[in-house]
Amino acid sequence: MSSIKLLGTGCPSPSHIRFGPSTLVQVENNNYLFDAGSGVTQRLNESGLKSSEIEALFITHIHSDHIVDIYQLYIAGWHQGREKPFKIIGPSGIKDFFEFHLKAFKTELEGRKKWEARPNENGLLYEVYEVYEVDKKYIYQDKVAQISPFEVDHKPVEPAYGYKIEFNEEGKDKKIVISGDTRKSNNLIKQSFKANALVHEVFLGLDFDEKRMTKETLENVADYHTLPKEVGEIAKEALVEKLILTHFVPPVFDEAKLKAEVREVYKGDIVIGKDLITVEV
Ligand SMILES: [Zn+2]
Ligand SMILES: [Zn+2]
Repeated sequence: MSSIKLLGTGCPSPSHIRFGPSTLVQVENNNYLFDAGSGVTQRLNESGLKSSEIEALFITHIHSDHIVDIYQLYIAGWHQGREKPFKIIGPSGIKDFFEFHLKAFKTELEGRKKWEARPNENGLLYEVYEVYEVDKKYIYQDKVAQISPFEVDHKPVEPAYGYKIEFNEEGKDKKIVISGDTRKSNNLIKQSFKANALVHEVFLGLDFDEKRMTKETLENVADYHTLPKEVGEIAKEALVEKLILTHFVPPVFDEAKLKAEVREVYKGDIVIGKDLITVEV
């Protein structure tokens, strides 16, 4: 049975209950990871998985909360015995971003390789596929699943992608969609049409009274995310079977209130995400 495991359901604001954004999709024995938020390797470990057991890492967009642990995932996988190249799929700029890390850690890594003489040096190889290289759009395909990136709307952050995971299980075609960060997006509704599960971000509001927030900041943050009522509309319009909420801004909120707000619009199955829960699809 395929499943979705929420590794991190938080946002940039740190929380020991909700780690940085990261979602694992398991189809047959393949593990596909979406975003590498803070703490992703520890959450994989808590789930009984090694970083070396990931087929590929898919990045939704270049915002720190989604990419901060890329190097940690790469190195942890090597320490855990990865024998094959580390594979990253993401927006343009992700290759440079990853290679800057390699440059920053070059001396440290060379020294370690030389001293430790680990047998799996191939585990340090890597492959990066940017979604658009020249004019051709990248689509991931292996024996188990096809994973297609599609544009969402998180402007001014461009490009920002959601991912559609399609596979066949026991003769049935199945579809899981990951929203990434986005405001209400018509393209996402189209791509999610009749999905078995939609994993979507949600913005619950920030506290006006906090000195760190101005009204302008609050409005700008709200503007490029999706409100609870809108999440309900998206799931309803796309006729999805199951709506799984994640990337909660802020990470602490009234869960019952959120569920009730979404329920007013969308009558299907609603899961208020928590770190380390598994949802079968
Ligand atoms: Zn984010
Ligand atoms: Zn973002």
